[in-house]
Amino acid sequence: MITVEEAIQIINATKSDFGTEYIPLHQAVGKVLREPLLADRPFPPYNRVTMDGIAIRYDDFQKGTRQFSVKGIAPAGAPVHSLTAPDGCIETMTGAVLPEGTDSVIRYEDITIDQQIATIHLDSVVKGQNVHVKGQDRKEGEQVVPPGVLISPAEIGVASTIGKDKLLVSKMPRVMILSTGDELVEIHQTPQPHQIRRSNVYRLHTTLHLAGIEAHTFHLNDNYDEIVNALQQILLDYDIVLMSGGVSKGKFDYLPDALAALGVTKLFHKIMQRPGKPFWFGQSPKGTLIFALPGNPVSSFLCTHRYFLPWLKKTLGYPPERQPFAQLATDFTFKPDLTYFLQVKIDFDKDGITHAYPVEGNGSGDLANLVDADAFLQLPRGKDHFSKGEVFPYFTFRNF
Ligand code: AMP
Ligand code: MG
Repeated sequence: MITVEEAIQIINATKSDFGTEYIPLHQAVGKVLREPLLADRPFPPYNRVTMDGIAIRYDDFQKGTRQFSVKGIAPAGAPVHSLTAPDGCIETMTGAVLPEGTDSVIRYEDITIDQQIATIHLDSVVKGQNVHVKGQDRKEGEQVVPPGVLISPAEIGVASTIGKDKLLVSKMPRVMILSTGDELVEIHQTPQPHQIRRSNVYRLHTTLHLAGIEAHTFHLNDNYDEIVNALQQILLDYDIVLMSGGVSKGKFDYLPDALAALGVTKLFHKIMQRPGKPFWFGQSPKGTLIFALPGNPVSSFLCTHRYFLPWLKKTLGYPPERQPFAQLATDFTFKPDLTYFLQVKIDFDKDGITHAYPVEGNGSGDLANLVDADAFLQLPRGKDHFSKGEVFPYFTFRNF
């Protein structure tokens, strides 16, 4: 049996690269950008007027002129105007190109216009006021977004402004989610008294959907030959196989043997942790990674969020995430020599402290308890008693 840290090291040491692909811009949020976004023009592309009003020459104002004769009007979307007449001005609107021969814009709020004469009611003007200077934000050709960034609506705005309707992003792996067990039925079926619905599969499928992956699903009965036959093809067709169940000590937990028979290398089996001790991890000769998660819903849930998703994000090139920590809100005791992932409710107070309130359920089969929790607080091995106020890392499955 290995420690949590060893398991993470082994998982991270596997090499996977699922390549890159171009996708439409509107599907790109949450993906990792794999190309630089360069300014196709200066940002902004012209001296941009930022207020509705009149454009003047600062020097005219400076030498005492307060009345300017209106020589034209420059709305947004019109080619550049120019002003040559001394003590003249051009009416102009937000988003317009600043007329040539002018350098400052006075708001309508600060002037009156009568008979085509604009009078400025200000004691002072700052040269260049209300003008967003061409190239002030970024130069043409400059990198605005580097590769490796996790795309958010902010990056979509930049991509749109430079005319990119497709973006090169990390390609998602092909994932198969397998359930195992004769007791399992589909969501729409009415279970017999000895059956349950295969909820892990639906939960995993949705988790992957949120991560941008449309996984396939399949079911294996507790039959060794059936498992070997199906897995043979699945290992060829997919980059990742996520399984739940069939890896414990039971007489019908055939997965470890079936995987060995197919030449899959076991990289570890069992972690010194609760829940999720029976987690089995391996790699097929072709490179397919097998995350054989325990069947118990809470165990499988913990392993998904503590091991699979962080590995996936790392492999896809997500920027490293900062580890959040919380203070244990009550004393807690756990005797076994295992890392304990305590289900907790997270709360934040006005002093900026994050509190973790234990919401213990009835063990790793109690999936209803997850509805009341927000996260798993990782309590280290080698210690029985954990005191209120002690700080530990937590792994959440919710957005706060
Ligand atoms: P196993 O590891 O196969 O012995 O399964 C451990 C427990 O998890 C058993 O109570 C199974 O019925 C349950 N289980 C296994 N797979 C699923 C699943 N896909 N959804 C919900 N429960 C499951
Ligand atoms: Mg089973």
